[in-house]
Amino acid sequence: MERIKMTTPIVEMDGDEMTRVLWKMIKDELICPFVELKSEYYDLGLKNRDATDDRITIDSANAAKRYGVAVKCATITPNAARVKEYDLKEMWKSPNGTIRAILDGTVFRAPIVVKGIEPYVRTWKKPITIARHAYGDVYKNVEMIIPGPGKAELVFTAEDGRETRETVFEYKGAGVLQGMHNLNASIESFAKSCFNYALDTKQDIWFACKDTISKKYDHTFKDIFQEIFDAQYKGKFEAAGITYFYTLIDDAVARVMKSEGGFIWACKNYDGDVMSDMVSSAFGSLAMMTSVLVSPDGIYEYEAAHGTVQRHYYKYLKGEETSTNSVATIFAWTGALRKRGELDGISELCAYADRMEQAVIRTIESGRMTKDLALITSLENVTVLNSEEFIKAVRATYGELSR
Ligand code: NAP
Ligand code: MG
Repeated sequence: MERIKMTTPIVEMDGDEMTRVLWKMIKDELICPFVELKSEYYDLGLKNRDATDDRITIDSANAAKRYGVAVKCATITPNAARVKEYDLKEMWKSPNGTIRAILDGTVFRAPIVVKGIEPYVRTWKKPITIARHAYGDVYKNVEMIIPGPGKAELVFTAEDGRETRETVFEYKGAGVLQGMHNLNASIESFAKSCFNYALDTKQDIWFACKDTISKKYDHTFKDIFQEIFDAQYKGKFEAAGITYFYTLIDDAVARVMKSEGGFIWACKNYDGDVMSDMVSSAFGSLAMMTSVLVSPDGIYEYEAAHGTVQRHYYKYLKGEETSTNSVATIFAWTGALRKRGELDGISELCAYADRMEQAVIRTIESGRMTKDLALITSLENVTVLNSEEFIKAVRATYGELSR
């Protein structure tokens, strides 16, 4: 069989532990037999990050900027235990944080919906994608413990030295105090990434915050979204038959629970942190959740939402059998290859990605799955496959679909 040719490389960011093991199996079984893969390879495995003083992470993000599409394997974010385990020169920063800072993007997380893994919310029929603003607010706050009576003020000193003051509170006793910020430029790029992604995936987009209570801070978010929508996206949305909808965050939560899904929910940083865990657990499994970082200038970095599955890796190292779910990592690859196909006008590549995803879904729906899914499925008489068997079963299903 003739393999599909590519014109532009995708940026391939390899990672750590069990997901690194799956990465190779996926390439060998599901990608390379069908696609003449063109990729620029960056090894973000912790050993290599340490050897290159983390230069490799920065290089990989810059390559993503050059080529426009990247696929990333899960990576270890070192903590004290990892510094010891890998004898690291430094406690290197989170690669995802470094890449996000360079690409300035928004992270979109969407569940992969299959029959047999039912969402806990009965009304949800289609995936709900969470778009989380990844800058500022409480994540870059300044806090104080207030020991006793006194006055707290907000003071802004302009470059010319002029001061603006607001009293926060006159304390009569002990308490706590917090200051936080955001930037118009960051909110604007968040809004644009959201609108672009909605157009890209042909889904409605909701944005919610608390502008009735936070009349300047949250209201600025609401206003920026509306201004950008009216000026740049209104016509495109009408043409695509999709809508932009703003509501208050508490109203959004109530509507989401009663909805049937199939839209993007844009959230401020904290709301996105909380709601993405709620939505992903309610859809069944973190191993069935894809994640894509989209920059305002249209760079896409695809990955799985879960980590490196360390516990399974240690079993693998001992020669024991593992049943690690590779679905989110497979979808990271198909997402990247489909996007490359779209950008380069290679329809065979897009069709390949669609069919491979279908093969994954069919395999699970036919009752063949990894242990994590077998534990929660409503299907009966399922066959639990190990890590490798599952990938091979997907390959076989792909073969059947191609006939
Ligand atoms: P994790 O790798 O997501 O795994 C946590 C647990 O969730 C696993 O032990 C496993 O449960 C289950 N699980 C997750 N993914 C699974 C899959 N694909 N198939 C089957 N089960 C799966 O999180 P972690 O153990 O807290 O973190 C491990 C490393 O990943 C850390 O070093 C962390 O820094 C890194 N991390 C990286 C990313 C990223 O690169 N995007 C994100 C998060 C964490 P059972 O053990 O019960 O089977
Ligand atoms: Mg969180």
